[in-house]
Amino acid sequence: MTRISPDGATPAMAQWFTLKAENPEALLFFRMGDFYELFFDDAVAAAAALDIALTARGNHGGEPIAMCGVPVAAAPAYLSRLIRRGFRVAVAEQTEVPRKGRPASKGPLARGIVRVVTPGTLTEDELLEPGRSNLLLALVCSPDATKGKRKKEAQPDAGSVLGAAWIDVSTGLFETASLPAKALPALLGRLDPAEILTMADTELGDYEARRAPEATLPAPQSARQRLAQAFDVASIEAFGTFSDEESIAAAMAVDYVRRSQAGKLPRLAHPVPQSQSGVLGIDPATRASLDILRARDGGVEHTLFTAMNRTVSAAGARMLAEWLASPLTQVEAIRARQDGWWWLKEHTARATALRESLKKAPDIARALGRLSLGRGLPRDMAGIRDGLVAAREAAHSLAQPVPGQPEAQLPAILVQAIGWLGAARDLEAELHTALAEDLPARLDDGGVIATGYDAELDEHRTLRDNSRRLIAALQSDYATRFEVSNLKIRHHAQLGYVMEVPVAASARLKDHPDLILRQGTASMARFATEELASLNVRITEAAEKAAQREKIVFAALTAKVLAERELPELAQALAVLDVLQSCALLATGGTWCRPDVCEDTSFHLEGCRHPVVEAALPPGARFTPNGCVLAPERRIMLLTGPNMAGKSTFLRQTALAVILAQGGFPIAADQARIGIVDQLFSRVGASDDLARGRSTFMVEMTETAAILNQAGPRSLVVVDEIGRGTATLDGLAIAWSVLEALHSTVRCRAIFATHFHELSRLVDTLPRLCLHTMAVREWRGQIVFLHEVLAGSAKKSWGVHVARLAGVPVSVVERAGRLLRELERAENTIPEPLPLFDTQKTLPPPYENTLKKRLMEIDPDSLTPRAALDILYDLRKQA
Ligand code: ADP
Repeated sequence: MTRISPDGATPAMAQWFTLKAENPEALLFFRMGDFYELFFDDAVAAAAALDIALTARGNHGGEPIAMCGVPVAAAPAYLSRLIRRGFRVAVAEQTEVPRKGRPASKGPLARGIVRVVTPGTLTEDELLEPGRSNLLLALVCSPDATKGKRKKEAQPDAGSVLGAAWIDVSTGLFETASLPAKALPALLGRLDPAEILTMADTELGDYEARRAPEATLPAPQSARQRLAQAFDVASIEAFGTFSDEESIAAAMAVDYVRRSQAGKLPRLAHPVPQSQSGVLGIDPATRASLDILRARDGGVEHTLFTAMNRTVSAAGARMLAEWLASPLTQVEAIRARQDGWWWLKEHTARATALRESLKKAPDIARALGRLSLGRGLPRDMAGIRDGLVAAREAAHSLAQPVPGQPEAQLPAILVQAIGWLGAARDLEAELHTALAEDLPARLDDGGVIATGYDAELDEHRTLRDNSRRLIAALQSDYATRFEVSNLKIRHHAQLGYVMEVPVAASARLKDHPDLILRQGTASMARFATEELASLNVRITEAAEKAAQREKIVFAALTAKVLAERELPELAQALAVLDVLQSCALLATGGTWCRPDVCEDTSFHLEGCRHPVVEAALPPGARFTPNGCVLAPERRIMLLTGPNMAGKSTFLRQTALAVILAQGGFPIAADQARIGIVDQLFSRVGASDDLARGRSTFMVEMTETAAILNQAGPRSLVVVDEIGRGTATLDGLAIAWSVLEALHSTVRCRAIFATHFHELSRLVDTLPRLCLHTMAVREWRGQIVFLHEVLAGSAKKSWGVHVARLAGVPVSVVERAGRLLRELERAENTIPEPLPLFDTQKTLPPPYENTLKKRLMEIDPDSLTPRAALDILYDLRKQA
């Protein structure tokens, strides 16, 4: 960025320099009339990012000043684009009202930054995704762990402790946690924060781009005090127990939010410390492989969330996403959710009525967020009113006795929700009388407050309207008096109310003693009269007073809304009910069941499906359900079968069933019993980490290491093709030893999918291993995938058949088939048992061996298709 000195700036530019220096990292939106203008490098960057015209205005230091601007009315759309592209924006407003007669010598109007828009502190609907939280996360590494270490070593090591605090400014959510540093990647994956506030030496991995530019670390004691002050309590222990790191992180987050809102703190729930122990451990690689909330392609269409989301409100969708991101490990808590939706499924009429009321519930939490920042729109106030109506109706639909039916026994989760829905009853009535029927978009447009609510406002309005009526009456009076039949009285932006006559009449009237000619055009003339002028003043004054009074009344209403401390709980209760009704709807079709979640280590799925793959099947195609039993005595499944037979789908659907079951949701199966899983590891599908310069094999081994080091007897591990990224024997040896370790050391439940059929022999030595294979049938030389998981192991790999299916030219496929037969003959010369670690192996006869040697030298991952073809032709020549 070029350095520009403020020396010699005009007064307005000097003001720009001062404001820019307050937030040098942000683009400065400098309010000038109806535009936000950007200057210098800000203008260049914004014009490019927004694809708007870059112009120049005035000179600075002998150079024209680059400039671009966006209309204030359209600012949210532009802000949204800038924030998405990673910019921060400081908004400078005129803090002084331009008044007539203000001497120019007073310099430019006073301006101040009213807000810094950053990705983690957004409140406007235009800038937010309705169904997702928007979190600002603050992270602090334990001071002891970093003390005395050099910068590089100050990385949170495995033993150090992190304090984390996250805030959703748009809804007021505020939570904290204390966690081992090694759990950071999992936390990031779970929260998916929009912006991260932390020290420069905390590594954020894939989340690096979301780092906030600055972070200042308060001392623990002052952090606690500041938090206590922010929430107006003597000590934050009133809200629970917070570690030093947690309270520092929380204070950092609060300070950052406050700064972003120019010193004003939005309404935040008090910080709630979260225990990490009750949450299913899902590491980032697992999350990435399962497409829970976001698919690997970055979209949301092919995700578990979309496949099961039947919520009808944005707040419900957010809560569903939250529950899916952090499934539980406590049976009681899981069953409480299940009981909730099961009851709704059994009471269809009530669930339908509930759904109808939820559909009418606006986003109360986000409306509250804006109101608390003084940014509330008329529709936000109406949102609170309609939300209260929806809450009353929702409670009614659940709790009201139905004539002729026995009293329904409500499960605890519904009883609690109904309790919350009863909050703020008086407010609903008040908002009904306070708000007008048809609300304008902005408070400035007027007409927000209903007639009859505030006497003073009514008075100003009556005065204004009476004067308007008088003016309307004057039109016919004047027409008679001045003898101009088509005379009009109109309001004109600059002249106020004037009498308009056709040009023909103007010559006659221009010297009339009661008329003052104000403007003449080719077709008509505009005259003012004393009466009109005085009415004009009355109208303007009354209108101004009405507008001011309306703002005061709106502010008082806002204060009343914010004083209702239980509104956030009410909003949350609506969201919970929405998630539960969504589950009930899902389970109603009979294809999603209620799993039996229990304390032991059983694992039994019957007729299980992958909801996302199932939804994506072409019309007419049917998904083949599969069972999966990992009983304690057979807890490791070795799964063989060709590519495309459905192995990854089977692995993923099993992992997804655990996430759903422990989130308290129905699962896509006929029947299920799942013993609580404490950590879930899924490694399915090629992970591509070339951006970080690690080879496929290196990534695979790092991930394998993570599983072996972290998984325990209550974990579930589903892995696909361990050892595929290296030479066959190496790969086989590694897969073999990993399988042994999972079986005998980790002792977890696992599905191990592999191409190495040789591993099937381990069933003789590993007692808890069971063999399964994907059913395929050969039909007229073609392979048919049945997608069925059967007991046993695959007899062959069918790779050549799959190559044919994929469209590899027939000549190449046939040649590969011949080569395969040769190779298999050579392979069969290897003595039993497999000499995995025997480097002294006798080599097969020379002919086969040259081919094999050639093949083994090839690293298929590094070949272009063209080079691969060349090699095939070359091999063919040798044959
Ligand atoms: P693999 O991992 O064995 O290569 P996939 O699991 O990727 O195979 O499955 C390949 C394709 O087969 C999927 O995209 C899906 O269209 C289909 N498929 C997989 N499992 C099933 C199933 N159980 N029923 C129907 N189609 C399936």
